[in-house]
Amino acid sequence: MAGVVGAPVSHSLSPLIHNSWLAGAGIDGVYVAFSPPKDRFGAFAEGLRGGAVRGLNVTVPFKEEALAIADEASPSARQAGAANLLIFEPGGVIWADNTDGAGLLAALKAQAPGFSAADGPVVIFGAGGAARGAVAALIGAGAPEVRLVNRTLARAQVLARSFNAPVKVFAEGDAAALADAGLIINATSLGLGGGPGPEAALQAAPPTAVVMDMVYRPLTTEFLRRAEALGMTTVDGLDMLLGQAAPSFEALFGAAPPAGDVRGLCLAALESGG
Ligand code: NAP
Repeated sequence: MAGVVGAPVSHSLSPLIHNSWLAGAGIDGVYVAFSPPKDRFGAFAEGLRGGAVRGLNVTVPFKEEALAIADEASPSARQAGAANLLIFEPGGVIWADNTDGAGLLAALKAQAPGFSAADGPVVIFGAGGAARGAVAALIGAGAPEVRLVNRTLARAQVLARSFNAPVKVFAEGDAAALADAGLIINATSLGLGGGPGPEAALQAAPPTAVVMDMVYRPLTTEFLRRAEALGMTTVDGLDMLLGQAAPSFEALFGAAPPAGDVRGLCLAALESGG
């Protein structure tokens, strides 16, 4: 047994993804959604120590706390300052990992196969947990520079200082951030549910820039539509979700996800409002 924990969690596609893979792989297991009260996450996770639940994917707002309660953590979780995966070892140890960065890189590989992080600066809108994970993954993948644009400048400055790498901070509306960009990512929650994305002068970026949105509800956000209108290659957030789920499934159930159209299943669920 494994699951996903978040608050709220009812919108999560993770049970659909993992239960479909469990069925496809013929594994006798189940993946469920947990939503403890926001101030009870620590007690909830502690209660699973060494227990019957093999592990948990962790989503908003518990990712930082998940890393804090773990006994051991992978380099990617430590670098991201957050965990999206906890494994409860039979001996009682809680092990933390972060597969969001791997998911981001998998999405780029799937939808922008010609893209290389080394090709130019990466611009990230946002400075929350998702942005932090993205900075770690892209620096690790060879990005020469990361530029952060965030509503709360101080939060971006704290994030930038925590990396021993060229991470620069730009104010919202400063088009200079986009000049010579190789990749532009929306890692804010703007656009979620169909509203406008971050204000970004995408036309100030080279037409060869790849534009990605971590938001996948809707799949084609206003931010991606603007990039498409400029002829840019776009990457949606659903492949990132699937890309973080695959290594999570392996860690939880000891097998690679079986072949099958799980993206199609997710698209159908998104279309029906599930
Ligand atoms: P978070 O830690 O709460 O950060 C939210 C970010 O959005 C902050 O930078 C915040 O700016 C900014 N923001 C929120 N409302 C804003 C507004 N009205 N105007 C300007 N900026 C605003 O959330 P997170 O965990 O980083 O997640 C960010 C997004 O990524 C969410 O939509 C989440 O669903 C998505 N995500 C997707 C995946 C995937 O697999 N596809 C994985 C992880 C996250 P301030 O600092 O100024 O508050």
